[in-house]
Amino acid sequence: MSELAYPYEAPASQALFDRAAAVTPGGVNSPVRAFRAVGGTPRFMVSGSGPYLTDADGREYVDLVCSWGPMILGHAHPEVIAAVQEAVARGTSFGTPAEGEVALAEAMVERVAPLEEVRLVSSGTEATMSAIRLARGFTQRTKVIKFAGCYHGHVDSLLAAAGSGVATFALPDTPGVTGAQASDTIVLPYNDLEAVYAAFAAHPGEIACVITEASPGNMGVVPPLPGFNQGLKDACAANGALFVSDEVMTGFRTSRAGWFGVEGVVPDLMTFGKVMGGGFPAAAFGGRADVMAHLAPAGPVYQAGTLSGNPVATAAGLAQLRLLDDAAYEKVDAVSARIQSLVTEALAKEGVAHTLQTASNMFSVFFTDRPVRNYEDAKAQESFRFTAFFHSLLSNGVYLPPSSFESWFVSTAHDERAVQRIADALPAAARAAAEATA
Ligand SMILES: *Cc1c(COP(=O)(O)O)cnc(C)c1O
Repeated sequence: MSELAYPYEAPASQALFDRAAAVTPGGVNSPVRAFRAVGGTPRFMVSGSGPYLTDADGREYVDLVCSWGPMILGHAHPEVIAAVQEAVARGTSFGTPAEGEVALAEAMVERVAPLEEVRLVSSGTEATMSAIRLARGFTQRTKVIKFAGCYHGHVDSLLAAAGSGVATFALPDTPGVTGAQASDTIVLPYNDLEAVYAAFAAHPGEIACVITEASPGNMGVVPPLPGFNQGLKDACAANGALFVSDEVMTGFRTSRAGWFGVEGVVPDLMTFGKVMGGGFPAAAFGGRADVMAHLAPAGPVYQAGTLSGNPVATAAGLAQLRLLDDAAYEKVDAVSARIQSLVTEALAKEGVAHTLQTASNMFSVFFTDRPVRNYEDAKAQESFRFTAFFHSLLSNGVYLPPSSFESWFVSTAHDERAVQRIADALPAAARAAAEATA
């Protein structure tokens, strides 16, 4: 679909996109925002409140992206905003230790049992990059196993067969990543333990770690089969490698203790971002104290950051975590289940083949009638139906992720009114999906 398929719909956004394209590659600061997979004008948002976003043309949308996960309390939650305002007034960065970062680390360690120590960073990419470096430093080994369709940020060695934007654009091996970096990465099909055993057997004593999304959400939602994560953990333990569970998306979202809280498999290292930053750039990696002791200044593996543990970001993250009690998760789970059943009902009514997959309150729809267990399955869906479905919802005020390879996200702020708006928009979208042609 051409990028100009829907230019009339959003003139103010289109004008901003034209301005952006003159000074920024592709007009965006993160590729999937450009709408290339679905066509049309990316909406430039000017404000968010609860479950709603308002764009530059003054149109309001029910937001099912929630900033790709972080906004689990909805936009501009009054208590988070108050904590941010209080922190901002005391200064925005000190370049010294400060109490806020201690309090955030304590709150994380308290909620996630395997997390004995954490180091704060500013993005999920930094978290996975640092965890891999630490795993290599600790084990004195070079190779890393990752799974096709899992996205761990744009770390050089982890971009091979990555999900999210890499999946959306079907990019081949990314230019700019050296052969050496790529050859230290072993990419295996997701949910396939036999492939993992074979890789360990083929590279004895060489594999530093296995990194996986705790429950993948970057090729659409593809949860681990029962026993898969435990199998990874056991294979790592048997072969002297570390098991790194990437909870950047699932952490503090799929339960109070993230995906660990759902499944209980204990990783050696974990990574976090998204929800823990409360909408600010805050992320973390952590885990076993004996492994974390290898990090500078306690140990030899170097890692640092000018804005790490930033006082405004940590205040936002801490305020958000404090509001995320059991009742909050019950609310997110319940509204997610409501929306899931509305979506399946609408698609079933129009006879559209689809598979809805969930990982607690994360979910996504694949336009195929077969279960999706890995990246190959995910790519086999009829993505052209998603494009039609997406644009129908968008023009009726519902904002979905602009790609069929992404999870949908809801928040505690998605109330009856927001759900009703989605329910009202779904029949036409399901019809559009049914009528779509490749
Ligand atoms: C979003 C994400 C990342 C990258 O985080 P950024 O903050 O965008 O760098 C890493 N891993 C997973 C599982 C993610 O969903």
